[in-house]
Amino acid sequence: MSGNSKCPVCQSCGMPFDEAHLEYLAKEADGSDSVYCTYCYKDGAFLDADATVGDVVEMGVPHLAQKIGEQAARKQLSEFVPTLARWKG
Ligand SMILES: [Zn+2]
Repeated sequence: MSGNSKCPVCQSCGMPFDEAHLEYLAKEADGSDSVYCTYCYKDGAFLDADATVGDVVEMGVPHLAQKIGEQAARKQLSEFVPTLARWKG
Protein backbone atom coordinates (compact mmCIF):
# COMPACT_ATOMS: atom_id res chain seq x y z
CA MET A 1 0.00 0.00 0.00
CA SER A 2 1.26 3.48 -0.82
CA GLY A 3 0.67 6.64 1.15
CA ASN A 4 -2.85 7.01 -0.14
CA SER A 5 -4.81 7.92 2.98
CA LYS A 6 -8.20 7.34 1.37
CA CYS A 7 -9.40 3.91 2.46
CA PRO A 8 -10.60 1.88 -0.52
CA VAL A 9 -14.09 0.42 -0.18
CA CYS A 10 -15.92 -2.45 -1.85
CA GLN A 11 -17.32 -1.01 -5.07
CA SER A 12 -20.54 -2.98 -4.61
CA CYS A 13 -21.53 -2.61 -0.95
CA GLY A 14 -19.13 0.02 0.44
CA MET A 15 -17.37 -2.16 3.01
CA PRO A 16 -14.16 -0.34 3.94
CA PHE A 17 -10.97 -2.30 3.33
CA ASP A 18 -9.20 -0.97 6.38
CA GLU A 19 -6.64 -3.15 8.16
CA ALA A 20 -9.33 -5.05 10.04
CA HIS A 21 -11.22 -5.85 6.85
CA LEU A 22 -8.43 -6.39 4.32
CA GLU A 23 -9.02 -10.15 4.44
CA TYR A 24 -12.43 -9.54 2.86
CA LEU A 25 -10.92 -8.15 -0.34
CA ALA A 26 -12.03 -10.55 -3.08
CA LYS A 27 -9.83 -11.89 -5.88
CA GLU A 28 -10.38 -11.87 -9.59
CA ALA A 29 -10.41 -15.20 -11.46
CA ASP A 30 -6.72 -14.66 -12.30
CA GLY A 31 -5.80 -14.15 -8.63
CA SER A 32 -5.35 -10.38 -8.74
CA ASP A 33 -7.04 -8.11 -6.20
CA SER A 34 -10.64 -7.20 -6.94
CA VAL A 35 -12.32 -3.92 -6.02
CA TYR A 36 -15.10 -5.94 -4.36
CA CYS A 37 -15.44 -7.78 -1.06
CA THR A 38 -15.87 -11.51 -0.50
CA TYR A 39 -19.53 -10.99 0.50
CA CYS A 40 -20.25 -9.59 -2.96
CA TYR A 41 -17.79 -11.27 -5.27
CA LYS A 42 -15.80 -14.45 -5.83
CA ASP A 43 -13.47 -15.60 -8.61
CA GLY A 44 -14.51 -12.95 -11.11
CA ALA A 45 -18.28 -13.00 -10.57
CA PHE A 46 -20.85 -11.46 -8.24
CA LEU A 47 -22.26 -13.95 -5.74
CA ASP A 48 -25.71 -12.43 -6.23
CA ALA A 49 -25.73 -11.13 -9.78
CA ASP A 50 -29.40 -10.15 -9.51
CA ALA A 51 -28.99 -8.02 -6.40
CA THR A 52 -30.27 -4.48 -6.69
CA VAL A 53 -28.81 -1.43 -5.06
CA GLY A 54 -31.69 -1.60 -2.58
CA ASP A 55 -30.80 -5.19 -1.65
CA VAL A 56 -27.22 -4.20 -0.98
CA VAL A 57 -28.29 -1.23 1.14
CA GLU A 58 -30.48 -3.52 3.27
CA MET A 59 -27.61 -6.02 3.57
CA GLY A 60 -25.36 -3.32 4.98
CA VAL A 61 -27.84 -1.63 7.34
CA PRO A 62 -27.57 -4.14 10.25
CA HIS A 63 -23.75 -3.85 10.25
CA LEU A 64 -23.63 -0.07 10.21
CA ALA A 65 -26.62 0.19 12.55
CA GLN A 66 -24.51 -1.29 15.34
CA LYS A 67 -22.46 1.90 15.21
CA ILE A 68 -24.86 4.69 14.27
CA GLY A 69 -28.39 3.31 14.59
CA GLU A 70 -30.70 1.82 11.97
CA GLN A 71 -32.28 5.02 10.68
CA ALA A 72 -28.96 6.79 10.17
CA ALA A 73 -27.41 3.66 8.69
CA ARG A 74 -30.17 3.28 6.08
CA LYS A 75 -29.95 6.97 5.17
CA GLN A 76 -26.16 6.92 4.85
CA LEU A 77 -26.06 3.70 2.81
CA SER A 78 -28.89 4.69 0.49
CA GLU A 79 -26.92 7.82 -0.36
CA PHE A 80 -23.50 6.18 -0.54
CA VAL A 81 -24.04 2.78 -2.19
CA PRO A 82 -25.46 4.17 -5.48
CA THR A 83 -22.20 6.11 -6.00
CA LEU A 84 -20.12 2.91 -6.12
CA ALA A 85 -18.76 1.55 -9.41
CA ARG A 86 -21.10 -1.46 -9.62
CA TRP A 87 -24.20 0.75 -9.64
CA LYS A 88 -23.05 3.70 -11.69
CA GLY A 89 -23.59 1.76 -14.91
ZN1 LIG B 1 -19.07 -5.85 -0.98
